[in-house]
Amino acid sequence: MSNRTIPMTDALYGYYLNASLREPDILARLRAKTAERSEGDMQISPEQGQFMAFLIRLTGARRAIEIGTYTGYSALCVALAMPKGSRMVTCDRRPEWPRVGQPFWREAGVDDIIDLRIGKALDTLDAMIAAGESGSYDFAFIDGDKKNYVNYYEQCLILLRPGGVIAIDNMLWSGRLVNDALDDPASNAIRALNIRIRDDSRVDSSLLPIGDGLALVRKLDI
Ligand code: CA
Repeated sequence: MSNRTIPMTDALYGYYLNASLREPDILARLRAKTAERSEGDMQISPEQGQFMAFLIRLTGARRAIEIGTYTGYSALCVALAMPKGSRMVTCDRRPEWPRVGQPFWREAGVDDIIDLRIGKALDTLDAMIAAGESGSYDFAFIDGDKKNYVNYYEQCLILLRPGGVIAIDNMLWSGRLVNDALDDPASNAIRALNIRIRDDSRVDSSLLPIGDGLALVRKLDI
């Protein structure tokens, strides 16, 4: 019994995965391929991918945004959970990362859903706003460079419809945020966004200790 979130020991994490993970083979293969890479720990955990897919189905999202494609695991989780005819814009600056996942998107038959935009996400989102797409998206996943987190949050709030949901990754930053001596742009940006969300009357919110900390925000109709 506990009235706080329980510590996740290695043994408990093993049980958690064994007792709850339903990872389709294609996702497991893309995850294994990504894990071979030197920066492979950037990919989200499989239980987080399963949770995001659950969230997509729960909300019936058909239009999604992702900032930080990396090798495309999270995009594949989200796209597999959306009905045919849906659309997901995913942004990354480095074409070599999404290139790892693109064959898996094709194999899964969701490459017509995923609209990859290579370039600065700030510019991509600004262009979407300028093109009149404000208020038209159901879901956004923010997992790009941390120093721009507050900017991405504000852009996604504009692009989301009322009732739309933003999920923001790495909001517990490997537990490092409790170290007051930690004073770098990425850590400070995450701290600033956590506090902004807590105090933001435009949204409902919940910070989940899944993966590296996933903040959930729902845009209110105000
Ligand atoms: Ca991340």
